[in-house]
Amino acid sequence: MTEEELYKRTIRVWGKEPQMMQVIEEMAELTKEILKNINRKKDNIPELIEEAADVEIMLGQLKYCYGIAEQIAAYKANKLKLIEQRLNDWEKSHNVNANTGS
Ligand SMILES: [Mg+2]
Repeated sequence: MTEEELYKRTIRVWGKEPQMMQVIEEMAELTKEILKNINRKKDNIPELIEEAADVEIMLGQLKYCYGIAEQIAAYKANKLKLIEQRLNDWEKSHNVNANTGS
């Protein structure tokens, strides 16, 4: 079973609204682990891995649920180019070598 087939099945079996609520829940769990890591200096890499994976899975369901996977991929590609350009501009204005970071 492919990922997309699995996402389709989750929506069919468990329903759109419960799965979209689960997206929110998983994002909150990842948020909590990031906060623990940064604010409390907690060594929680296994939890970060688990919650990031959960969020990726739920975002897969969200994409399927709304039929927006292609639009997200296109937006993401454009956004990544923009981030690269901003990094290039920032490094240039701060005299940072893009390869070494210094
Ligand atoms: Mg989770």
